[in-house]
Amino acid sequence: MRKCGRLLSFLSLASALSAQPIAVRAGRLIDPETGTSAANQLIVVENGRILRIGGAAPANAETIDLSGMSVLPGLVDAHNHLALTYKRDPENNSYYLTSVMDSTAIRAIQAVSNGITMMSSGFTVVRDLGNNANYADSAMRIAVEQGWVPGPTVINSGIIIGGMGGQFTPVPERFSLVYPEYLDADTPEEIVKAVRKNVLFGAKVIKIMVDAKPYGYTVDEMKLFITEAAKSGMKVAGHVQTRAGAARAIEAGIWSIEHSTALDDAAHKLMAQKGIWRVGTETPLSDYYQPNAERFTRTVDGLKNAYANHVKLAFSTDADYYIPGMTRGQVVIDFLKTWKAAGIPAPEILKIMTINGYQVCDLYDRRGPIKPGLPADLIAVPGNPLTDIDALRDVRFVMKDGMVFKRDGVMTPEKFFHSGPVNGWRIH
Ligand SMILES: [Zn+2]
Repeated sequence: MRKCGRLLSFLSLASALSAQPIAVRAGRLIDPETGTSAANQLIVVENGRILRIGGAAPANAETIDLSGMSVLPGLVDAHNHLALTYKRDPENNSYYLTSVMDSTAIRAIQAVSNGITMMSSGFTVVRDLGNNANYADSAMRIAVEQGWVPGPTVINSGIIIGGMGGQFTPVPERFSLVYPEYLDADTPEEIVKAVRKNVLFGAKVIKIMVDAKPYGYTVDEMKLFITEAAKSGMKVAGHVQTRAGAARAIEAGIWSIEHSTALDDAAHKLMAQKGIWRVGTETPLSDYYQPNAERFTRTVDGLKNAYANHVKLAFSTDADYYIPGMTRGQVVIDFLKTWKAAGIPAPEILKIMTINGYQVCDLYDRRGPIKPGLPADLIAVPGNPLTDIDALRDVRFVMKDGMVFKRDGVMTPEKFFHSGPVNGWRIH
């Protein structure tokens, strides 16, 4: 039995490796880094990676005709919560109740489903910043990387680390319920242990609560997070909601500040100077999740100010809720409204949604751009997002790791499903 299994996994790996090359004909190939495009380009994909751009199609290649479309690299949401879905019914949009009622297992499955809809909307990379029960985010990422299910490349945080009580307000009487949604770390020893625990259980970025509680984290405590995370090659993302918290996080040299409500002109100037990412999670005006027009105006003004100050910006959503009739991917792409309202030109928004996204995920030299040697992640839309950013709302084609996920506007993910870990079981 065991021998037979080994033989089968060898055969499936061998067949994956000997895959036929693919020649993608792009009517318009967009380079978001320069904001330029080139007509009628040929992209040759082999063994899941981009082999070359240009030249003739290999004789034995499968041809994919996107000659009527714009082809571009996949999009990035730099702040999502794939394994959290709070709802009006039954929990009145209180994620505290969601965390009590939805098991880690169902939340991992939600993450897979949300990841699939993100891919369908063109997002091939998602940075997932916690609230995922007991590492549902790691389970989902591993399932994608081992080859069980289709999904975006996920940079996940594991459990959010904070001072006692995490982010819950009010703190539940049964205090133990804070765990596993948050990991308490109140002393230097606990900070080191909490980072190491997340490393062990599959985190790819460390997320901390800078100032959700009055005691927050000091500059020195955040520096300890940064050095401990760096030992495992990870960056530290900080949830910030007060001006004082922002000032401390900037002084500590944090990698990214999550959310924008506490960021003013002075903070933006310092962030630009120190190269700190602004992952602003700028929610658009909507009856369902942001009905307050004044708040939306403040969000837009903040984004304008950050852009004018040349702060490093990431497209990010904080999407963690269900809107009836919309997939997670549709909720996320709707955030284009805020970026348009801020008057940021389409080529800049596109660069922020791609190049900046790979950079804030610390992936840029390994995945994202359409360049020889990198994994073949690409999408196609009928319009031209360099002139009309809303063209991104109509993603008709998605390729991930050289496998077609969506074609002619229909998800066709058959190649992503295996009955074993085809990319190796050691991925964790
Ligand atoms: Zn969040």
